[in-house]
Amino acid sequence: MKCPMETRESAGFLLAYGAGKLDAETTALLERHMGVCQACREFAGHQRAVSAALDAWEAPPVSADFDRRLYQRIEKEVSWWDLLTRPFRPMLVRQGLPVAAAACIMVMAGALLQRPATVEPAAPAESAQLESVQPEQVEHALDAMQMLSDFSHQVRAAANESEM
Ligand SMILES: [Zn+2]
Repeated sequence: MKCPMETRESAGFLLAYGAGKLDAETTALLERHMGVCQACREFAGHQRAVSAALDAWEAPPVSADFDRRLYQRIEKEVSWWDLLTRPFRPMLVRQGLPVAAAACIMVMAGALLQRPATVEPAAPAESAQLESVQPEQVEHALDAMQMLSDFSHQVRAAANESEM
């Protein structure tokens, strides 16, 4: 037998052999060849090792709360600064927004984010009715509005500055 390593077509023999899919006749030929060809012997050895490793490998079961933990991790690892400033970034870059104004955006975003982020699952209907708007929520909303107006002032000022 000609060394299967030497031609592309017969290299498939080695792969088929490693996968245990080679017919008996060719297997016999190949094994005889491997007796004299170190390259093919090593190739088959490596392939067997890979097959064995794949056979031994078992995917860990996906636990019920996999999604939850994944999202928690994403939330933790994606920088909140990055998330919060992303929508504003083109504006910041274009207008050379002063740091104070940028900080203002951050505070504003922070105030908005203080709203309860998660809705309690299966909250009883009566408690949902008691949960009217809290004073501090109104305060936050007013703060946010004030900051929005401050912010648009600063943006306008910055825009004027850059025009001059
Ligand atoms: Zn060979």
